[in-house]
Amino acid sequence: MGKVYLTGAGPGDIELLTLKAARVIKEADVIIYDRLANPEILQMAKNGCEFIYVGKADGKHILPQEQINEVLYECAKKYDVVVRLKGGDPFVFGRGGEEGKYLYERGIEFEVIPGITSAISVPAYAGIPVTHRGVSVSFRVVTGHEAPNKEASQIPWENFKTDDTIVFLMGLHNLDQIAKKLIEIGKPRDFPVAVISKGTTPEQRTVIGTLEDIYEKAKDLPTPALIVVGKVVELRDELNWFERSLELSAV
Ligand code: SAH
Repeated sequence: MGKVYLTGAGPGDIELLTLKAARVIKEADVIIYDRLANPEILQMAKNGCEFIYVGKADGKHILPQEQINEVLYECAKKYDVVVRLKGGDPFVFGRGGEEGKYLYERGIEFEVIPGITSAISVPAYAGIPVTHRGVSVSFRVVTGHEAPNKEASQIPWENFKTDDTIVFLMGLHNLDQIAKKLIEIGKPRDFPVAVISKGTTPEQRTVIGTLEDIYEKAKDLPTPALIVVGKVVELRDELNWFERSLELSAV
């Protein structure tokens, strides 16, 4: 029986891969991957490594989670080093917990290799610190996948009244409703919002707006994209180091 490495691939910039992830990718007999922010990572694999794509096509999972679990199990029976590669961190909306539980139940050894999550690194590359002294003492990372007007929503919207930072992942297609919901719970209409697309890559784009106008401004940005709501967005005026450097290199 082989060992499965539930491995974070980081947000896009290949240098944001951990040394440990790079080691197991080089040793892998098989790599099972989703749509990755940086497919160049796969080129680090040794000759003869098998690649299995289980990600999304046109917004639909080509394989349901149960079948992905099954693929991991079958690979562990066949190979020594099985790398399950996921964007960002495997335990931040990555379903790594489900895969780990499944492997545990079947007696397959596994290891988790945390990755740099997009939730923190993508704002950082847009010049937005998720916490800042005197501005935000906490940050939340929230799924934007669930429509805010859904009945029996599990998201505690009423807790979002403070000025602290909220990062929504998977939320671009619900941006309109998310912004309306935050206004509904009492946030000012001119509260700052950023949407960052393809973060940490040379195609990174950031759109800044308010709860009132962000949807119109950002709705057509390409995915992956995340939403940052909070006063920390204003720090970007001074801290926008990465896009400034992209502009300089484009000159
Ligand atoms: N496990 C991942 C998140 C998976 S959910 C992590 O830790 O980063 C996928 C969501 O992450 C996307 O819908 C998007 O909101 C966000 N995301 C991932 N990579 C991104 C990137 N390079 N730029 C902007 N958002 C990104």
